[in-house]
This record gives sequence, C-alpha cells and structure tokens, in this order.
Amino acid sequence: MTSIYKKQLVAALSCIVYATAWSQEAPMTPLRADQKAYLEIYRELVETNTTLSSGSCTLAAERMAAHLKTAGFGEQDITLFSVPDHAKEGGLVAILPGSSTTLKPILLLGHLDVVEAKREDWTRDPFKLIEENNYFYARGTSDMKAMDATWVDALMRFKQGGYHPKRTLKLALTCGEETTYAFNGAEWLSKNKPDLISAAFALNEGGGGRTDGHGKILVETIQVGEKAAQNYKFETVNAGGHSSIPIRDNAIYQLADALTKVRDHEFPLKFTATTREYFAKSGAARNDDLGRAMVTLSKNPADASAEKIVSADRSFHSMLRTTCVATLLEGGHANNALPQHAAANVNCRIFPGETPQGTLSTLEKVVNDPGVKITLVPPIRPLAVEPPLDPKVIGPAEKLVAKYFPGVPLVPQMSTGATDGIFLEAIGIPVYGVPGGWGDPDGNGAHGLNERRGVRSVFVGRDFLNDLIKAYADSD
Ligand SMILES: [Zn+2]
Repeated sequence: MTSIYKKQLVAALSCIVYATAWSQEAPMTPLRADQKAYLEIYRELVETNTTLSSGSCTLAAERMAAHLKTAGFGEQDITLFSVPDHAKEGGLVAILPGSSTTLKPILLLGHLDVVEAKREDWTRDPFKLIEENNYFYARGTSDMKAMDATWVDALMRFKQGGYHPKRTLKLALTCGEETTYAFNGAEWLSKNKPDLISAAFALNEGGGGRTDGHGKILVETIQVGEKAAQNYKFETVNAGGHSSIPIRDNAIYQLADALTKVRDHEFPLKFTATTREYFAKSGAARNDDLGRAMVTLSKNPADASAEKIVSADRSFHSMLRTTCVATLLEGGHANNALPQHAAANVNCRIFPGETPQGTLSTLEKVVNDPGVKITLVPPIRPLAVEPPLDPKVIGPAEKLVAKYFPGVPLVPQMSTGATDGIFLEAIGIPVYGVPGGWGDPDGNGAHGLNERRGVRSVFVGRDFLNDLIKAYADSD
C-alpha cells in the first residue's frame, strides 16, 4: 500500500476524537503456545528478504508452502507459480476445501514483496525481526507480513485442528504490489488463473485501526474500494529556432498553458455508497465546522458551501472526485534555443466507475488545444469497481470490532491510493481491507525507515482475523 495514502488517511482520521479509556500499549506476556508458533512464521517471513532488487518472493512462497504441507495440506491443495522472466517474483495459492458445494469460497489475499530498505539508513537490521519497546521492528512488519503470516497460520491451524469451514478458504500470496513496472502476481492470477482464485469476496490489507500515537485506538476502518491510478502524457512540438528572436508560439508555453488548465479543472463531485457513509459517520464524530459540513454534504452533494469546506481538506477533496495532477516535466534542448518539444506526465486518480478513456476525453476538452497531444501511458489499470457495502461483510466485522475494541467505531472508507484489490475487482471479486490490527498516526515507517508494528497489534490483530475468517467461512 502506498505510504502517502496511509499518511493522508491518518491525517484525515486523527482529528476524530472518541472516548476509549483503555490502552493497547501494554506488553504481551506470556505468549500462548499458538502465538509462539505464529511468531516463528512471522519471523521467517520478515527475515526472508522480498525486495525487488535483492530478495525473492518465490523463496518466501516456497517457505510458506512448506509450512502448509507440514500442517497437512496436500500437493493438490497448493499451487506455486512464477513466470520465467520474473523467476524471483513468484507466489502461491493454497486451498482449504469447505463442506458446502453451493456457497462460494472466501479468498485471503496478501502481497509478499516489500519496499527496498538499506541497512546503512536503518537503526537496526531491516531483515531481522527485533522486538523492542513493545514493537516489532523490520521491513514488512507492518506492510504486510503480519497479515500474510496470519493468513498462513490460520489455514495451518484450521487444518490441524480439524476445523471444516462451510465455505472453501483460499489463500493467494503474491509479489509486485509495491512496484509499478515489475511482475504483479495478483494481476497475473486474475488474468491467467481466475478459476483458481474465484471467490465470493476477498480479504486484504488497507483497513485496520488507528491510534492516537499513545496506544489508544480511535477508529477501526474497513476499506471498501479504491481509485484507479493512471498516467497520461502531454506533448507539444514546435519548429523551434534561435532564442534571440522569440515569438509567442512556443512548445513550453503551450504545454504550460495546458497544465494550468488541468490545475484549474475540478472534476465533478461524486459519492459511492461507501464514501457517503464515511463522510456521514466520521463527520458526525467530529465536533467542528468541517464535521458538520461533511454530514451536510453526504446528505446533499449539491450544497456548495459544504463542499467548499470539505474540499479544503486535500484527502477529502480527493475522496470526492477524480483528480489529475502534473508530476513530471521535460522539454527544450539548449539554453539558447526555442524548444522543439515539451512533455509532462499527468497522474490521475480515477473515481470508481469512470474509465481511463473517459478521463482522457475530459482532459482533451479541458485543454481544448489540438496542438497538445494527450495519450494514455501504460500500464492501463483496470476500471475501479466499487465493492458493495454488503451487510454480510460489514456486519460480522462490526460485531467483532465491538467485541475486541468496545466503543471504537468501524468506518468504511474508499482508498485514494492503490492496492492489488483493483485487479480482483476487475474480474468480479469484491475486495475488503479488513479491520483488526492497528497502526500509529505516523504511519509506522511503512515504506520508510525503521518500519515497526505494535506487538499487541500483531497478536490481537491475528486473533481478530481468525474470528473474522471463521465468521465469514461459516456464513450462508
Ligand atoms: Zn501493502
């Protein structure tokens, strides 16, 4: 998951004040036997380097497959996959058959890869699980090997304990979530093995609790949907010439004019069922003008004064519409020459239901200059499909949040960032970013330095997710 998104989310939610009198900072001792066993899987996964530059998701997948086999999974239940050009970027799919022949399976999704981490920049070895100050430190502790280990450990214990879920449980551990141009296992599975991963819905990262930074959980979230990231190239050309005799017609000015129009264009305000509930619920929890405007806007999207207040918050502004912004620039060839060519990258975050092609048409209309060539830059991401705000999914999660975190609300939210969920949603599998484990307002160093995950967050999050999987697996 992109760190910028997490930071935005934390910033957006950290103003919400809820009254919970208890803390999640207390140490976790002694560990139960099952927690000790889980910890060793978590440790092995974290200490298996899965960066693109020097690691191997394939090795991590093989190690997890070995655990599953030890727990009783047969060869036929486990599929290890990779492609020759990306031998180290493999993954695995494992299946625990359910008793029902009619109910659709549940898919547990996780990415094995992690963002690069340099030993010299970190306080501790990024590929050694180190427990300190009630936190586990290492790359991937938070994003997202605690959840990967939870999925593997849950299937192992279900198998060993003789638990027979009604619904078949599937696990997909993939590579490439953290990199745009490398091999993406979730995309590959959805295109090449859709039957293998077919499911009623999938559970993924992207949700979870947020603390006040002092161990108090303010809110739990469930991610329901995300925007689609898409790049566009803007290009202008010109005959150029000597810069001592300039004219107004200039490739750089022409491009700049186009980009200024993009800056000044506001895409229309939209709600999904999820964002409507998000603004209503989290707005109601705030005791300020912004909160009141959020509630008003959720009831009446045409209220211009409420929109002005809400859109002043950059995260909320992005949750309400497609956004496009200039991110890269090139042009000209000499200090003393008129430019023959100028180009820019415009990065759009497309609202669910809107197409990359439709956004291209809008950009062309906004720029209104046939001399500015606008093209889609691959990879072309699938259309973001909003998963339904399904009571069968939200209900059990709400119940468990009430049990584990009394007084803490569960808020559904749409991500302005990107996860692998978009590839599964494109083939009809709704993906939900589950609540449970929690993080701090600073983002816990995910993608950055000294990544960490609270020890209690890891173990309580695991118990929570075990209960959640069972609740879904046994539901009709
Ligand atoms: Zn992630």
